[in-house]
Amino acid sequence: MVVVMQEGSTEEQIQRVIDRLVSMGFDVHRSTGATHTVLGAVGVRSDCDPRDIELLDGVREVVRITQPYKLASRHFRPEGTVVEVGRGVRIGGPEVIVAAGPCAVESAEQIHTIAERVARLGAKLLRGGAFKPRTSPYTFQGLGEQGLKLLRQAADKNSLLVVSEVMDPSQIAMMLPYVDVLQVGARNMQNYHLLRALGEVPKPVLLKRGMSATIEELLLSAEYIMAGGNYNVILCERGIRTFETYTRNTLDIAAIPVIKKLSHLPIIADPSHATGRRDKVPPMARAAVAAGADGLLIEVHHDPEHALSDGAQSLYADQFAQLMAELRIIAPAVGRRIG
Ligand code: PEP
Ligand code: MN
Repeated sequence: MVVVMQEGSTEEQIQRVIDRLVSMGFDVHRSTGATHTVLGAVGVRSDCDPRDIELLDGVREVVRITQPYKLASRHFRPEGTVVEVGRGVRIGGPEVIVAAGPCAVESAEQIHTIAERVARLGAKLLRGGAFKPRTSPYTFQGLGEQGLKLLRQAADKNSLLVVSEVMDPSQIAMMLPYVDVLQVGARNMQNYHLLRALGEVPKPVLLKRGMSATIEELLLSAEYIMAGGNYNVILCERGIRTFETYTRNTLDIAAIPVIKKLSHLPIIADPSHATGRRDKVPPMARAAVAAGADGLLIEVHHDPEHALSDGAQSLYADQFAQLMAELRIIAPAVGRRIG
């Protein structure tokens, strides 16, 4: 359940409610908003009478949550979450944030060339995999730590932040100095061991929707991370498997407004993995921003014909430039802006 405290409730009153919830066997997560404090009570108690809490001083409202996720629920932070990534970049605020870069880091020259271009065109984060979850074990698996070093250098040189995929809890400590956001790939959305480990990490997590995951399952995966204390979760719609085979996946645009209603977490869209074809990436990116996405994750390559992975869905720099120009027109029409 979620306990909404009255505006101006005192620290003492809040503490008394927390103590009461703890004594009832709940785990309490606190969210201090601009106007009031909200307490998320997580636990297996279904027999608790909400009036016992409602009657305590300073309590405005007790909401019983029927959804299985609580911390990820919109009730927990009705005003929405803004994830601070660093260098003043905030995901979930008025600005639509674009992360762009190659599928994988391939070489110093490649990542520096792409970083310079996407930074000049308005991207705020540089993407690039150093650990690649490839469908075939015989294809390029990524440069590992060396790739992360190159990614960090290229990002720093161009005032960009870094997002890169983590595949296993054993990689987290090594990755932390190189990345600003840890990405959980679609294939790992239900790797609960990894999600729990990321709950203890002091950096934001970009959680991609699994290719056959429902919205509820995605939010429950976010709940795993948040239950560990890391509330800086950014969700990502990257397309799901359907009976349609023309595109690599089917971008579930409706998931964006649905998630906005169900959850306070920011949601971004990845039109590259969703469509698998560069000619379909710009229209889907435009649609996602129009639908209310807080950001985009886009694959861009300076020489896609020779990319070691996902070349066919990587935009050329001039296509990316055109897309950014279009997004600068679309974003204000839906009350947002692009930096
Ligand atoms: C990626 O973004 O590099 C990636 C592998 O995407 P997904 O996990 O969505 O397939
Ligand atoms: Mn890719």
